[in-house]
Amino acid sequence: MTARHTRVLILGSGPAGYTAAIYASRANLKPVLYTGIQMGGQLTTTTEVDNFPGYPEGITGPQMMEDLKKQAERFGADIRFGIATAADFSGETHKVTIDENKVIEADTVIISTGATAKYLGLDAEKKYAGQGVSACATCDGFFYRGKDVAVVGGGDTAAEEALFISRFASKVYLVHRRDRLRATKVLQDRILAHAKIEPVWNSVISEVVGDQSGVTGLVLADPEGGNRRTLEVAGLFVAIGVVPKAHFLAGILDLDAEGYILTDAECRTSIPGVFAAGDVRKKILKQIATAVGDGAVAAIVAEKYLDELD
Ligand code: NAP
Repeated sequence: MTARHTRVLILGSGPAGYTAAIYASRANLKPVLYTGIQMGGQLTTTTEVDNFPGYPEGITGPQMMEDLKKQAERFGADIRFGIATAADFSGETHKVTIDENKVIEADTVIISTGATAKYLGLDAEKKYAGQGVSACATCDGFFYRGKDVAVVGGGDTAAEEALFISRFASKVYLVHRRDRLRATKVLQDRILAHAKIEPVWNSVISEVVGDQSGVTGLVLADPEGGNRRTLEVAGLFVAIGVVPKAHFLAGILDLDAEGYILTDAECRTSIPGVFAAGDVRKKILKQIATAVGDGAVAAIVAEKYLDELD
């Protein structure tokens, strides 16, 4: 039977979670890590990672996550599949419910549940999910070979999605509500120089239209709502940012208005013994490099907290 009590419970299997597992295992704390629904986190839906130090030629997201998992297992982390669905941090021992039916007790908890894609909020996004609307170019880009598609958003994700789909699609419209991207300069330069990518500035999507075969077009408008026109595309990739996966902690931990977990500089949350690391934490820079930094800090600060308990 799997143990129901652990000194360190880690939630999430992105770079922050696996790094916390590596550090906590090497401190002999025998951490238990629950992976969440998407084993390996957001990076499993990414292609090239070009900005993580130490890889001069880049590395793929899935490869990086496989390597991190192996490294955590090598030092003895107990990696289990399961999703945290509730938490009770009111007592001396913290309790986290996994898959709505199993309670794990822990002296410390490191929350590294990450974030998930945000959608525009149009009804048609749900209607055409998997039939032309996607938030994952690496998962679905292949289906748009020779077709025209649109990506909405102006950040790093939108830029990377547009560049990825341009390998398959005949044309990629990058629909953005302003007249400039917020993506990293190197990505902006690649987008603006790309023969197949056409930015559509100062535009919002007011409707997604389609038929029984799926998406056939978008109704665009100016940000103020005027100048409505149709853009014929077979697919829409939504890349307008992310929402933190901390909804099960509302009312339990201090969160900001967008739902990110508030911590001090050393990843401590509002509850002693509970830490947050990676994209789920409110912070200035959400990158793999900062996620692994958070994971290491959270594990070491958790170790110190346990030393003081003993
Ligand atoms: P982001 O940086 O928050 O950008 C979201 C984009 O979507 C912005 O351009 C925003 O417009 C637009 N947007 C937001 N809500 C919208 C709406 N309702 N309708 C239309 N447009 C909307 O999100 P992200 O690109 O997903 O990146 C998230 C974090 O991950 C960032 O910190 C990013 O640097 C990081 N990231 C890094 C990499 C990399 O380093 N290679 C790759 C992916 C992500 P405005 O510009 O007008 O606000």
